[in-house]
Amino acid sequence: MLRLGITGGIGSGKTTVCKIFETLHIPIYYADDRAKWLMVNSPALQTGIIQLFGEQAYFADGALNRAHIGSIAFKDPAKLQKLNALVHPAVFVDGENWQQEQLALGAPYTLKEAALIYETGSYKMLDKVIVVTAPQDLRIARVMKRDDLSEQEVKERIARQMPEAEKVAKADFVINNDGQHSLIKQVLAIHQEILELKA
Ligand code: ATP
Repeated sequence: MLRLGITGGIGSGKTTVCKIFETLHIPIYYADDRAKWLMVNSPALQTGIIQLFGEQAYFADGALNRAHIGSIAFKDPAKLQKLNALVHPAVFVDGENWQQEQLALGAPYTLKEAALIYETGSYKMLDKVIVVTAPQDLRIARVMKRDDLSEQEVKERIARQMPEAEKVAKADFVINNDGQHSLIKQVLAIHQEILELKA
């Protein structure tokens, strides 16, 4: 079974594209959502997070205190790095287990959606990577609207990511989400190609 990854910069349209793959019944692992889930449901991860950020890392009801963690991680990049060093391997193992389940269920291929596929090295465990791209001004406008952020705030987030051109250069497939090209047609073409690769 082929393992695909899908990535792209903030606001490129990864999630939007995944919704189209969902209509084709392709199983999708949303790595960022799953990471958030694991941070409150994996005892090993919780222990590690408390060691790094103290008991205040969690509220009494078990929810993650994002503001507390964020305020420390923002000022202390070493702590942020340590947090990533805890979370990424946990998501990696969880994703591998999920992959095995999908294999057993007979999915033709799987898709892992993650903001960081090249940065974390997780592309090494994937057969093909799709990069979703869109012009920067469009990405900025979409994220400003979706997250109620200022232009400056979105630009800062973009500046912290790997440049989109670099991701596109590494990609096996590129989906152009510029609002002009049909996303459905592009997804169907990739889907067909993957099925043929498998045949
Ligand atoms: P992030 O990395 O921030 O999670 P993303 O790459 O998953 O972002 P989406 O959430 O899919 O991006 O898209 C960003 C916003 O732009 C969403 O509000 C989405 O509805 C909108 N959007 C995406 N693609 C299009 C499109 N082709 N036409 C109109 N709106 C779009």
